[in-house]
Amino acid sequence: MKSTTESFGKNARDALADRRLQRSLPVIHEFRRDHERATGALPGYAELKRIGRQIREHSLANVATLLTEFEQTAEAAGARVHWAADAEEARRHVLDICAARDARRVVKAKSMVTEEVGLRAALQEAGYRVWETDIGEYVLQLADEPPGHVVAPALHKGLDEIDELFATAHGTASEGGRSAEQLVEEGSGVLREQHAAADVGITGANFLVAETGSVVLLTNEGNADLATSLPRCHIVVATLEKVVRGLEDASLLWRLLSRAAGQEVTTFTSVLTGPGERGESGGPEAMHIVLVDNGRSDLLGGEFHDALRCVRCGACMDHCPIYESIGGQAYGWVYPGPIGAVVTPGLTNLEESADLPQASTLCGVCEEVCPVDIPLPSMLQKWRRRAVEELPQPARSTWALALWRYFASRPKLYRLATSVVARLLYLLSFGRGTLRRLPLLSGWTASRDLPAPEGQTFQRAWRRRG
Ligand code: SF4
Repeated sequence: MKSTTESFGKNARDALADRRLQRSLPVIHEFRRDHERATGALPGYAELKRIGRQIREHSLANVATLLTEFEQTAEAAGARVHWAADAEEARRHVLDICAARDARRVVKAKSMVTEEVGLRAALQEAGYRVWETDIGEYVLQLADEPPGHVVAPALHKGLDEIDELFATAHGTASEGGRSAEQLVEEGSGVLREQHAAADVGITGANFLVAETGSVVLLTNEGNADLATSLPRCHIVVATLEKVVRGLEDASLLWRLLSRAAGQEVTTFTSVLTGPGERGESGGPEAMHIVLVDNGRSDLLGGEFHDALRCVRCGACMDHCPIYESIGGQAYGWVYPGPIGAVVTPGLTNLEESADLPQASTLCGVCEEVCPVDIPLPSMLQKWRRRAVEELPQPARSTWALALWRYFASRPKLYRLATSVVARLLYLLSFGRGTLRRLPLLSGWTASRDLPAPEGQTFQRAWRRRG
């Protein structure tokens, strides 16, 4: 069964019990170190963040004007712009373009919005042969799994698993134990052939530049550059909020995104303006740009407006203790981690994704590391409040809150009860300083230690301090 946001609790329990996954997840500690190193090495990073936030705010405040300008400049450069209100319309545009070109084979570079609209499945159902060409996405295509991270989609896959997948898919007689370099070489060889044979290349976009009609693509593998230059038709699928004023704004956001993602610069940066010129040896003869809304307009100007500033660097998930424990796929939809827990209820529905905003300790690190200062913890709290106001609550929480209210409104009784419980929990810790496997709290203590009280309440310690 594929995980969904609705089954988040079960997904999380499964993820905690998955030994292979638990062996792979500590890799995000390296991502954290890369983030600290890359952001710390750039003088004036804090000022750059401030300007980046302003740029994103300007884009969102003027999104309609900038998109209209982008449509004009992109079409003047020879591209064709299509508007898609929702996922269904986005899929239909791409299918129509592929059909009009009598295409058979399609290569795709990594793009979260194409995951969001279910593009690969729609193309495959319509009979096209589709290849994901980012090596991580290719691994996940073979494993039939969704991405687990916005930058490193297959971060949860160990080398042994990838070795098995490649050996099955490519018919190679591997005995296991191949290195990352060997696997990348084999995968890239297979994918290069697909690039050369493809009729259509599909990519996302990191930024859409209104002044020039350009699409900016930042990648580390070069596969997007092949997907945009070898096939005769290039389709860009991008969401509305990607638009920026000019190339200067795009280049500043590019620097911020790279640093926050743990790099000084991304390995490949492409600025694509219209299709290739007639007679040029490289470049497609047709370029289509599908601009997808799919719920973003409803977020603009509302409580969750700030989430649209996201540049998809992945830093918030890399630093999140919940993500570190369960990985990205447990979140059940396209966007994992703190930003996923904020945008998923807004782009899908709160009823099915109400558990996601609960998946946070509210420690605040996600906001600290975000290069565009998105107030993720306060938005998670807003979703929690809306869930309490709008959805029926489980009897257990209603009962627990009613009990707490009863004691909290009777100070003497509250003091007595808390001192008894603190003493009891201290005794139950048997002097170890932590509590394990407590009834009612087993969900917490099964995978973490719970610090034990020291035997007296804070209030009593405070009274005794003098
Ligand atoms: S919310 Fe911030 S930290 Fe998280 S992916 Fe988006 S830009 Fe990066």
